[in-house]
Amino acid sequence: MSTARMRAVRMTRWGGPPVLTEVARPIPRADEVLIRVEAAGVCRSDLHVLDARPGALPYRTPFTLGHEVAGRVAERGPGATGPAVGERVVVYGPWGCGLCSRCAAGAENYCDRRADLDAVRTGTGLGLGRDGGMADYLLVPSGRLLVPVGDLPAAQAAPLSDAGLTAYHAVSGIRPTLPVEGGASVAVIGVGGLGHLAVQILRATTSARVLAVDVREEALALADACGAHFGTLLRPDTAEVLRRRADGGVGVDAVLDFVGSRSSLELAVGALRSGGELAVVGSGGGELTVRKPGALPPGVRISLPFWGTRPELEEVVALARKGAVRVETEEFALSSAPEAIDRLRSGRTRGRTVLVPD
Ligand SMILES: [Zn+2]
Ligand SMILES: [Zn+2]
Repeated sequence: MSTARMRAVRMTRWGGPPVLTEVARPIPRADEVLIRVEAAGVCRSDLHVLDARPGALPYRTPFTLGHEVAGRVAERGPGATGPAVGERVVVYGPWGCGLCSRCAAGAENYCDRRADLDAVRTGTGLGLGRDGGMADYLLVPSGRLLVPVGDLPAAQAAPLSDAGLTAYHAVSGIRPTLPVEGGASVAVIGVGGLGHLAVQILRATTSARVLAVDVREEALALADACGAHFGTLLRPDTAEVLRRRADGGVGVDAVLDFVGSRSSLELAVGALRSGGELAVVGSGGGELTVRKPGALPPGVRISLPFWGTRPELEEVVALARKGAVRVETEEFALSSAPEAIDRLRSGRTRGRTVLVPD
């Protein structure tokens, strides 16, 4: 029996700091696949997990953090399917039951048994109740959760599985609603880890004018570098500015809100045209009142996209491989994960924080 050890960044108690420690290296059984981790992204939701009060999340501690993971297939269980040993992959993060109709269609983010999975405390996926990828190795329950990335650099591939996929899924939701004639326009509120990818995905997959809004000058510079047609700081008259920038001055066709705060939702509602589309991606705690008649533009549709589907992860990987999407990253050694997480918390990071083996 192998007793190999590996490093892992663990959530050991609610509200406590992340702990870099050693644990047994898992051995893949049945359908399981062991991944040698080449990069693991650090996400704002890792901070929410770390800061959660006991009982707030349906997970059992301890577990290894990290839900944005890329690496190489190191070992496969005897029944494993999918990528072969040695193949480079990114891990599809929202692990569902694998059996319901949503999962069968690749939409494990909307697994019908999500509540049951939470109830038995197996968690939502890697790094979210189950051992994640801030470690030397990651055990994946099935090869169905792996998407090949070819020679895409691991630090680029890892953030695609959450930041990239979530942005792609949000854009996929609004894309069919955009008018084909007459110049559609889409506002992106919040040009951070997800928003800067949404700007690139909109440019690569639609002909819409992309209007970016943020509260930071450097975020607008990033939006510009990502291909946004226009950028503005959040000011009292920003809704009016966005309406005027849209074709015909009637308001924007869609808003992707990566903030989800009271002020961002207010801006979104103020900028949308009648029959427009609002996708609330950010979890900023803002609320909207749905009432007829009310303050929402007539005909507006609101969606709450969560993560994304496996086919969409394949699509965003394909975009990255042809150079249409590039993630802004800042790399840290796995051994300095606690410092990297602190840095993210203090807001001093530019682009996505990614941990790489050292
Ligand atoms: Zn995340
Ligand atoms: Zn399912």
